[in-house]
Amino acid sequence: MIDYYKNMQSSRIVSLNQCPFSGTAVLYVMSRDQRVHDNHALIVAQLLAIEHDMPLYVQFHLKVVRGRSREHYAFMLDGLKEVAQSLEALNIPFVMTNGDNAVEAILQTATSIDAGAIIFDFNPLHGSRARAKQVAERFDGLVQVVDTHNIIPLWVASDKQEFAAHTMRGKVHKYLENYIKEPVAIATHKTPATIQPEGVSFNQAEAFIAEIPASSIVIDATPGETAAAKHLEDFLANHLDRYAMNRNDIANDQQSGLSPYLHYGQLASLRVALETIKVVDRRPLLFEEVKLASHGETPSAYDGMNGLLEEMIVRKELADNFCFYASDYLSLTSGPSWAQKSLAEHVDDPREHIYTRQQWEDAQTHDLSWNAAQNQLRKTGKIHGYMRMYWAKKILEWSESPEVALKDCIYLNDKYSVDGGDPNGYVGILWSMVGVHDRPWFERPVFGKIRYMNEGGLMRKYDVAAYHKQWND
Ligand code: FAD
Repeated sequence: MIDYYKNMQSSRIVSLNQCPFSGTAVLYVMSRDQRVHDNHALIVAQLLAIEHDMPLYVQFHLKVVRGRSREHYAFMLDGLKEVAQSLEALNIPFVMTNGDNAVEAILQTATSIDAGAIIFDFNPLHGSRARAKQVAERFDGLVQVVDTHNIIPLWVASDKQEFAAHTMRGKVHKYLENYIKEPVAIATHKTPATIQPEGVSFNQAEAFIAEIPASSIVIDATPGETAAAKHLEDFLANHLDRYAMNRNDIANDQQSGLSPYLHYGQLASLRVALETIKVVDRRPLLFEEVKLASHGETPSAYDGMNGLLEEMIVRKELADNFCFYASDYLSLTSGPSWAQKSLAEHVDDPREHIYTRQQWEDAQTHDLSWNAAQNQLRKTGKIHGYMRMYWAKKILEWSESPEVALKDCIYLNDKYSVDGGDPNGYVGILWSMVGVHDRPWFERPVFGKIRYMNEGGLMRKYDVAAYHKQWND
């Protein structure tokens, strides 16, 4: 098992300091990957603990990120309860801490258990990276970060900001086969933990999140690893064959619905890929020397698999690549220069409508399609993927400036989307508004050369009236 990691998976691990292992326990700080199965960071931590014949502890630090809704935290906490139970059954204590200062809380836990190493799971977003870096600067022991969110470790896939999906696709083709491998299972941990580090109970955590404003979102997904695995099984058995043909159909949703599970790491994208390939029993096109193939006119699980892996590997891992290498994924200045220049040239164009943040939030625009998307978001914490593009582009079109539009769009997406606060969200918004990973299109008012979308286009393709009825009534 240890050799497996040394030989096959060591490229997932990056050391954040030069300190040697020195202590009597190992601490894994679970953050983005809230699961026991298929979690390379947990596996690496356990292997290290086994190698030193020491106990293993898992810590989760609950910190309120401004702008997210209470329902998102409740979804997350329910998933974590299952994690805690599964870990306890494996003889691995789970400790939850909370408060504004995550660095202090992690260092305190590490000190209390006399940790010789701290393992983090990888997240390209600023806050998580800064936190791991600060811990590494202050901790007198080994600190490592393990990429267990991406199928291909981010730094292996590319050492620079990728230009677009087609450049990422080439790298995914090159490396994927090496990383689509069954991970080892977590074993019952032999060396018992003797210390109970200070932390908060789930009851205390629930009282803590009760202070966060709620948004009346009813999330249409059951939280946790078991529910995630069931959801995947059902999707593969009953919907995969229609995914390629119908996933963009706004009135007949055939998307996988996996994003809440992938966002909180309750499900590994590696597991999705492994199970999908198993069910279809054919190699995906990704492995072959083909670009995106067009799919046929009849439902096919094979087309479904190719479409799903394109979204969940090429697009998703491209989003992580962008957030890791781009200067600032929350700013217009992260857009390509052609887009920044073009938006600036059109900043004074008259807008047909200008809406306030409150009007956006309350779905009070003249546009029934936009209102339906916002209502879907407010009610369920999700917008259909195709409508997400329309929703963001209209915010650009009907705001006083691109800066205001970007801020409002991020605010709404993070506040309401159950999968918000994710690289996919920031990059999806930047793609829609600032041309990230896209090319210049025909010049037009307000948008400049940013790709345009209009309601007429939606009406030509889909049953827009049914979508309005579903969400506006
Ligand atoms: P499926 O179509 O079934 O895709 C399966 C998985 O592939 C998704 O769960 C996701 O992990 C990945 N994926 C699919 N499309 C994309 C994409 N365009 N970019 C990156 N990864 C993708 N995704 C989020 O996870 N969180 C967000 O907050 C988010 N905000 C978005 C905002 C805008 C304006 C746009 C245009 C896109 C956004 N996306 C976001 C990307 C995409 O729309 C969602 O991932 C998808 O709709 C989630 O539903 P699903 O799991 O049923 O998707």
